[in-house]
Amino acid sequence: MKRRQPIPVDEAIRTVQQYQQHGKIEWIPLKESLNRFIAEDILADHDVPAFDRSPYDGFALRAADTKEASSEHPVDFEVIDHIGAGVVSKKTIGSFQAIRIMTGAKIPDGADVVIMLELTKTFEQDGRPFMSVKRRLKQGDNIARQGEETVKGKVMVKKGTKVTPGVIALLATFGYAVVPVVKKPIIGIISTGTELLQVSDAIVDGKIRNSNLSMVFAQVLEAGGEPLDLGGVSDDFDQSYEAVKAAVSKVDMLITTGGVSVGDFDYLPAIYEKLGAQVLFNKVAMRPGSVTTVAALPSGQLLFGLSGNPAACFVGFELFVQPIINMWGLKKNPYPAFAEAKLTHDFPKANPFTRFVRATLQFTGGQLSATPTGLDKSSAVTSLADANCFIVLPGGSRGFQAGDKVRVLLFQYEGGGSPCWMTN
Ligand code: AMP
Ligand code: MG
Repeated sequence: MKRRQPIPVDEAIRTVQQYQQHGKIEWIPLKESLNRFIAEDILADHDVPAFDRSPYDGFALRAADTKEASSEHPVDFEVIDHIGAGVVSKKTIGSFQAIRIMTGAKIPDGADVVIMLELTKTFEQDGRPFMSVKRRLKQGDNIARQGEETVKGKVMVKKGTKVTPGVIALLATFGYAVVPVVKKPIIGIISTGTELLQVSDAIVDGKIRNSNLSMVFAQVLEAGGEPLDLGGVSDDFDQSYEAVKAAVSKVDMLITTGGVSVGDFDYLPAIYEKLGAQVLFNKVAMRPGSVTTVAALPSGQLLFGLSGNPAACFVGFELFVQPIINMWGLKKNPYPAFAEAKLTHDFPKANPFTRFVRATLQFTGGQLSATPTGLDKSSAVTSLADANCFIVLPGGSRGFQAGDKVRVLLFQYEGGGSPCWMTN
């Protein structure tokens, strides 16, 4: 076999992304839409607020009637109605009249200002309710105007947005009981390796439990894909070939783990060839996961050959598969978030390859810092659980010291450290 030529990470990423595909639209109930990708721009179907309303509990009145009001000369108003949110007063306010109004209620006809309850004094005279005002009010004060938040027809949620609870609030506001979302890509997962046991199996000498299958299944779920567990195959060419071939007709894309290196039982490269898939690259200048291989079938379906090493498999997914799922969902930015953080540890050795070090990003001492989560080997599984980001160390001729500012790629939003509203 030809020696593999590593290509830079950014080139590998760009190459894969040229094969992006987009999902079709489907309509699903609002409550099931969390974490799905919006398939069409969502428009406001009415102004918000839809009518002039009171932002406070208070009294609606005419500002002109308060012209002479001062602390020495309170002006009295007869209270002619009392309305809560959702109720529209049938009365029109005349001079020196007021309507007691609660937050969210529509401003009554004739009124052009609201004064808060706390700034008034109520009393009764001849069995009728009154209130007095000790200050001059400005027309329009304390009225939430129709359309001040948004106007009918404006794009509220862009297509490609991942649905969050905040997006759900908007969808509900604008009447989307069913929501247009992108159909999830079905992503098959096959693990390869004669050494693999099922999760429920007892440990056997020389074998290991299959952790990649469950891990990648969860990564697909979290990223917004529909994982399809196609099980494990042993390191046998025919069995592996048949499994991959059968999988292709059932999925939008396929992930395999293991068997992609140059060892005696690494059959994926030959399987891609036999399937007529075009190998986009088979070595990336990154650590871990340099053996990550991606191929495309004539149908355009992507075949992701991730390393069997758990950490390398994890990195390969986050760098290559996760953005493709986002792009399938029409998302504009295919990666979750980047940040700049201070290293808490030295990385004295230079590495020609770009490194992706599993780490926790924390906000401590008034700034973001990134700490490796443990053994930084591609075979490590124990350093994955605490990681919420990768420290990205560009390849080159120098190492890195504690205190250096580096980029981190976040893949989860949970972090540690003291909350930023605490002072220590
Ligand atoms: P491979 O990429 O097939 O050469 O595998 C590299 C290393 O990862 C080997 O030590 C394998 O035992 C290990 N490995 C492969 N597949 C899995 C898996 N599904 N779960 C956990 N470890 C694996
Ligand atoms: Mg293997």
